[in-house]
This record gives sequence, C-alpha cells and structure tokens, in this order.
Amino acid sequence: MPQPITTPVDEAEFAALKDEVAAYVANEGEAWTRRIEDERAVPSELRDELQERGYLALAAPVEYGGRGIPFSRYLELLELFSMSHASLRMIVHVANGVWRSADQFATPEQRERFVIPAIRGDGVIAFTLTEPTAGTGADIRCEVEREGDTYYLSGEKHLITFGLSCHRWLLFARLKGTTGNDGTVALMVDRDAPNVDAVDMGESLGVRGTDHARLVFDRTPVPVENRLGEEGRGLEVAFGGFLQPSRIAVGMTCVGLAKKAQELAVQHAQQRVTFGKPLAGRQAIAFQIAENAADIEAARALVIHAAQRWEQGDPAASTLSSMAKLIAVDMLTRVTDKALQVHGGIGYWNSSPIERVYRDARAQRFEEGTNEIQKTIIARDVFAAAAAAQA
Ligand SMILES: Cc1cc2nc3c(=O)[nH]c(=O)nc-3n(C[C@H](O)[C@H](O)[C@H](O)COP(=O)(O)OP(=O)(O)OC[C@H]3O[C@@H](n4cnc5c(N)ncnc54)[C@H](O)[C@@H]3O)c2cc1C
Repeated sequence: MPQPITTPVDEAEFAALKDEVAAYVANEGEAWTRRIEDERAVPSELRDELQERGYLALAAPVEYGGRGIPFSRYLELLELFSMSHASLRMIVHVANGVWRSADQFATPEQRERFVIPAIRGDGVIAFTLTEPTAGTGADIRCEVEREGDTYYLSGEKHLITFGLSCHRWLLFARLKGTTGNDGTVALMVDRDAPNVDAVDMGESLGVRGTDHARLVFDRTPVPVENRLGEEGRGLEVAFGGFLQPSRIAVGMTCVGLAKKAQELAVQHAQQRVTFGKPLAGRQAIAFQIAENAADIEAARALVIHAAQRWEQGDPAASTLSSMAKLIAVDMLTRVTDKALQVHGGIGYWNSSPIERVYRDARAQRFEEGTNEIQKTIIARDVFAAAAAAQA
C-alpha cells in the first residue's frame, strides 16, 4: 500500500477547487437533495456526475488514476460535500476511502482487478462486515469452506451501503469451525455471484435513497484468488490501515453536516421575529448559536490534528482517530439538536431543511463504529499506555 500522500498541494489550484465544490454543493447539491428526498432514490446520474467531475478520485494516488490530494486536505473538500445530502456525501466518502481497504493487502494483480476500477468508478466496492446475528460488526458468523481453489460462502450480512448497486462486496467471513479474530478471511465477492439473495432493506430514518442490502449467501462460490491478505487474518483488512483514516473522515463528515445545521439555524434566527424582535437578538438563542460555533471548531481541530498525525505515520493516530470520531459525532448530535430547537416547531416538518439534516445526522452514530466501540478502543489504549509507563 502506498504511504499517505504528502506532496503539498498547489494552494491557488486547491482554493479554486474548494470554491468549485462549494458552488456545486450549494447549487447542484441542493437540486439533488430535493430530487432524492422527493423520489426516495438516488438516480445513477448522480454518481456519474460526481465521477465525471473527478470528485470520486480526489484522495487516491495519481499513479492509481486519482488526483493525489493529501488526506488532511481532502478532508477540507469532504467537509463541503457533507453539507449536502447524506446520500451524496456517502458516495463521495465511500469512493474516496474504500479503495484503501482493498489496496493495503492487494497483490499487484488484485490491484489492477479491484482497486484501480474502484477509483475509476467502474468497480464500486461495498464494505460488507455487519451481520444480523453478530455483535457490532466484528463477531463474524458468515462462514467459508475451502475446496481446492474455491471458497464456498454461507451466511448473512445486513445494513450494507450500496450493497445492491455495487459491483462487488468486500466481505468478511471466517473459515468454518473457527472463532474470534483467528480464521477470518477478506473476500472480493462479485455482485453477480451465484447463490446470493440480495434484498433492499427499505427506507431508513435518514440517508434516504441510498440502497442498503440484506444479503444471504448459500454456498456461494468465491475463487481463492479473490481473497485479500492471508487466510485467517481477514479482519486485518477490515481494521488495519483503512479504519483509522476512515474514522477521521467520518469525523469530518460530522463537522460538515454540523456546519449546515448551524447555517440553517443562523438564517432562521435572523429571519424569525417573535414578540417584535428577531430570534437572533434573544440571548437564549444567540448563546445556542455561540455554543454550536465553538463546538464545531473544537471538533474540527481534533479531526485535522488526527488526520495530520495519521499522515505522519504517528502511532498515536490510532487512538486519535477514535477520539476524533467520538468527539465529532457527539458534537453533531448537540449541534443538530440545538439547530432544530432554534427553528421551533416548524423545524420538525419536512418543509424545513433542518428536518432532513437532523435525520441524516443520526446515521453518523453508527458509521465506522459506535461511540461505545470508540470508547472501548480509547480506554484500551489509555490502559496500555499506563501499563507500559509503569513497567
Ligand atoms: C446508515 C448505515 C449504514 C451502514 N453501512 C454499513 C456498511 O456499508 N457496511 C457494514 O458492514 N455495516 C454498515 N452499517 C452497520 C454499522 O456499522 C453497525 O450498525 C454498527 O457497527 C453497530 O453494529 P450493530 O448494528 O451490529 O449493533 P450491535 O452490535 O447490535 O450493538 C447494539 C448496541 O450495543 C452496543 N454494543 C455492542 N457490543 C458492545 C460491547 N461489546 N460493548 C459495549 N457496547 C456494545 C453498540 O455500540 C450499540 O449501541 C451501517 C449502519 C447504518 C445505520
């Protein structure tokens, strides 16, 4: 896997790109938002448009066909995309990140087959970990039996984003009879593989229009050459070099969405007059806006700090990535709640843009691990550091 991109950006070019993305989000992004909410579906033209504009290959290395933007600077763009509809943000975030998961253990041949197409946009990968009967992602029950050069995959997955519209699933299973982290495998399973029942999970609270799949495999044949990494160490592909930057990226998506909520709250507070005075002139309301502003900046600073430490290869980046996600998602919960409150009752109706933002925000609490899991990781690292210092 290539090292994080550290080539400095051309600042003038980058500023122009940021302006371009901000304008796209404010114009086309708003039009897509209305269409997705009305139709309850994400038209395939949206992905095509994002691809044509080069927005799905921002963070990939130039030698892979990407635009080679360093991770911490790419986050400045993701922040802008996150001010748009969650489904648009999801396409950008997943396309710019999931290739890392496949790439880190890919052989040169697998890189050509799986990673480069994912970056080009003609090989969309769905990260396929969570199961209906297994705890918070990692406690895998999906099993494979190996017969010669083929694994036969049986079991169920659910909540899989782009699980229907993808080209292949990056799926985590275990060798039959194994338990725990040992015996796991990471497989690239073709979307049109036989013996798979792929069903849409129906409408969710937020992130409307994005397809989420429930998948049932019944001795689905998967070539052994589609395995990433070593047999028995599949979870390293899921949790290795990929998850740290991905958690930090989700932290930034929280920042971007919180900024959108704050923007809407500020506008409403300026316009809405009660008892002869704009809400913005009431200290009770102004203080909520002030708290939100400070909350957003604090979370943003931690996200950028974690991203820069990851780029530098600092071992502390692992804990920092969980901290950044935890702090940013809690911030988003507070900010969207206050932003909705500032709107009064009308904010609860879908005629108010804050209603959609509030719903979309809730999904972030599950993405890349819940708060409980982030706290488990942070506490583990804190106690390990304490034990090392005492030794
Ligand atoms: C919009 C959306 C998109 C998603 N997309 C994907 C995707 O593309 N691919 C994918 O693989 N998954 C996806 N997921 C699933 C998501 O990653 C999981 O929902 C999340 O990791 C929690 O796992 P779970 O649902 O199995 O919860 P459970 O494991 O059932 O946990 C329930 C609750 O108990 C807590 N809990 C569980 N175990 C422990 C423990 N040991 N200690 C303390 N607390 C614990 C959890 O934090 C949670 O609050 C998506 C989810 C959503 C909402």
